[in-house]
Amino acid sequence: MELKVNDKNILLISFGHFEKYYLTTLAEDILCRFLVPVIIEESYIDLNEYYDPARRQYDGNRLLRMVDSLAPAEHFKSIGLFRTDLFIPILTFIFGQAYFKGRTGIASIYRLRNEQYGMERDDSLLLDRLSKVVIHELGHTFGLVHCHVPDCVMRSGTYVEDIDQKKNKFCSKCEELIGTEYCT
Ligand SMILES: [Zn+2]
Ligand SMILES: [Zn+2]
Repeated sequence: MELKVNDKNILLISFGHFEKYYLTTLAEDILCRFLVPVIIEESYIDLNEYYDPARRQYDGNRLLRMVDSLAPAEHFKSIGLFRTDLFIPILTFIFGQAYFKGRTGIASIYRLRNEQYGMERDDSLLLDRLSKVVIHELGHTFGLVHCHVPDCVMRSGTYVEDIDQKKNKFCSKCEELIGTEYCT
């Protein structure tokens, strides 16, 4: 089975303020892993309508649908970046999610921040975590399932420590499925 990546674009859309170098670093990481040109866009739409007052979180399923609907047809994949706390009904929170073999994924930095766990802010660690979540979710859109190799980026994780334990890379098996990997 081969899932070889396609020669189209990945649209990286930030919702809310993200430092420029966050977006450019993520774009580089995506290009490295998938060999697909990345286009960065910034959106400042009002996310209030995605807020669930009962859970005091933002609805990950509805946000995923919203990002999916924004993506122009000529773009191959889209990934939406958020700053808000995301949930889906069956889970207390999510770092991100994506349509399996679909066009769209989302990720949030909210639960990736050290401050969330009473630790000191660490921007480079935060960016590293966010990049892993983004690559993981895009991996799902390219048809990769969860992997059992301990340090593979496609390994599933519940806690931020799980993200820290894996590398921002596909294992050789996932790499073979996705196509070729440029950067080390
Ligand atoms: Zn996953
Ligand atoms: Zn793997």
